[in-house]
Amino acid sequence: MGVKVAKFGGSSVADAIQIEKTRRIIESDPERRYIVVSAPGKRFGSDNKVTDLLYLCKAQIDLSAPYDQVFQVIVDRFTAMSVSLGLNVNLANHFAEIKSRLESEPSADYIASRGEYLSAIIMAKYLGYDFVDTAELILFDKKGRLLNDETAAALKAALLRRERAVLPGFYGGYPDGRIRTFSRGGSDITGALVAEAVGADVYENWTDVSGFLMADPRIVKDAKAIGRVTYMELRELSYMGASVLHENAVYPARRANIPINIRNTNEPDNPGTVITADEGERDPSDIITGIAGNKDFSVIAVYKNMMSVEVGFVRKMLSVFEEYNIPIEHVPSGVDTVSIVIAKKYLADKLPEIIEEFERKLRPDSIEIFEDMALIATVGKGMAARPGVSATLFSALYEAGVNIRMIDQGSSEMNIIVGVENKDFEVAIRAIYKAFVKE
Ligand code: ASP
Repeated sequence: MGVKVAKFGGSSVADAIQIEKTRRIIESDPERRYIVVSAPGKRFGSDNKVTDLLYLCKAQIDLSAPYDQVFQVIVDRFTAMSVSLGLNVNLANHFAEIKSRLESEPSADYIASRGEYLSAIIMAKYLGYDFVDTAELILFDKKGRLLNDETAAALKAALLRRERAVLPGFYGGYPDGRIRTFSRGGSDITGALVAEAVGADVYENWTDVSGFLMADPRIVKDAKAIGRVTYMELRELSYMGASVLHENAVYPARRANIPINIRNTNEPDNPGTVITADEGERDPSDIITGIAGNKDFSVIAVYKNMMSVEVGFVRKMLSVFEEYNIPIEHVPSGVDTVSIVIAKKYLADKLPEIIEEFERKLRPDSIEIFEDMALIATVGKGMAARPGVSATLFSALYEAGVNIRMIDQGSSEMNIIVGVENKDFEVAIRAIYKAFVKE
């Protein structure tokens, strides 16, 4: 029998109704043997995620303010779930233990992890599977860095002797046993690590959308679904992927060559999106896989005569950003110009200082700043070695009246990135979509 690891996100375990749907999905395929769960998420728009409530308890404790009321909301949610599912599980002991640890040793990671912990206890009981805690299986070093090999070995040893199990997502432990969480949304990483450890045939990531769409549906109405995307394409589309799948979940699956399948708990018959290393069969008329972008970038364009023969120029320029710990998005260049594209949020009020450093270190002829730029990545393996792709893209933007401020094409020819003004962002995406995607 094959092995599937299925991770269910917060909305899939938000209440008893969602948990029932989750169970139907798990039981409809006996290969779904190892289940990873998030903490309960929002049940409706204005609801709170359990993880946020747990962080709130911690914030209250730090302020020496009462946290009982918030804690009670969490207790009530889990209790209601367990009663509605008809479970015979003693949650009171767990609540008491958490409360006493909260008061004696209020580490944010420990508190935040309890949502996943309780969620997995409930799910294991409901399915009749073993509960396997990840505290001693997902291993971090003293500095909080994930120990990949040790984690894989520990998970493998714990899981291969169990036919089926439920594991909490989001956390593991330091060598001294203290809890360490991943960054937010990190249950996706747990699922990928479990999939890698047991050598799963597929890692299913169940959420509340049926995979990725070719463009943001708020911009392109009825955007088509992406059936299949490679890991590399997904990286290029990362502006789009981040909210659906944690970026760091891709590495373990990619390392072990395990496809990731994004599925929707509320629409289980939809095949969703499969992320794989290879392209598989593709319709040759599918030129692009998707379009994604973001607003609010700044461009610093530096001009200096004979720059192209000045050894070390770009290194000096980039070292300034290193000093300020600012990540760089793109570095398009001409013969005597180099531009640096940076997300505005990282620049904040550091721009004047950076310009000063540039003047001092680079002695440029001129520096120009362009603000409020948006970047749009058009991505697809089908674009490589196909003449006419950029012509189609640029004519579409020209016809839509969009002024292109920057062009960057990766050497793999898998993507074309254009910089446009923020105000043209939506129009540009719609124009590119229309030019490439057949109705
Ligand atoms: N519950 C955690 C969060 O809200 C982790 C997760 O759901 O993946 O970020």
